Amino acid sequence: MTQPDPNSEKWNQCPPGQLNQLADRLQATRRTRSMLRQLRVVAGAATVLLVSILIFNRLPEQQPSFGGIPCSEVLRQADGFVAGELDSAIVQTIENHLEHCAACRKKIAAMQNPNMSRIVPQRKSAGTTASRNDKSETVVIATR
Ligand SMILES: [Zn+2]
Repeated sequence: MTQPDPNSEKWNQCPPGQLNQLADRLQATRRTRSMLRQLRVVAGAATVLLVSILIFNRLPEQQPSFGGIPCSEVLRQADGFVAGELDSAIVQTIENHLEHCAACRKKIAAMQNPNMSRIVPQRKSAGTTASRNDKSETVVIATR
């Protein structure tokens, strides 16, 4: 749209193509704005990522490392440790760590006995389950 002629009250007719140009310009502005917004979001995410990488890279240094290995390593090996699948060297290291680290000791104990309440009644019960256990035990001994 063009400015109204100051000498008349009537609006002038837009020259052909001007409205399209205006629409294109507006679209371009909108595209640029949304691009900038996306860029800001990406930049923000990148900053968060960078900061978290810095924090995570620094964490192992700050972690207590009893027995020569950090807690993160103990917890990484915890599955194998509980299952008894690790080399004696690493088992020794982890046991050394557990002696000094109550947090990991607690976690490993919880993994070894996932449900303590289930174990206790079994030990106390003397009825049919016990006799069945005795039978299966004799079978195991016989096959050996
Ligand atoms: Zn620990």
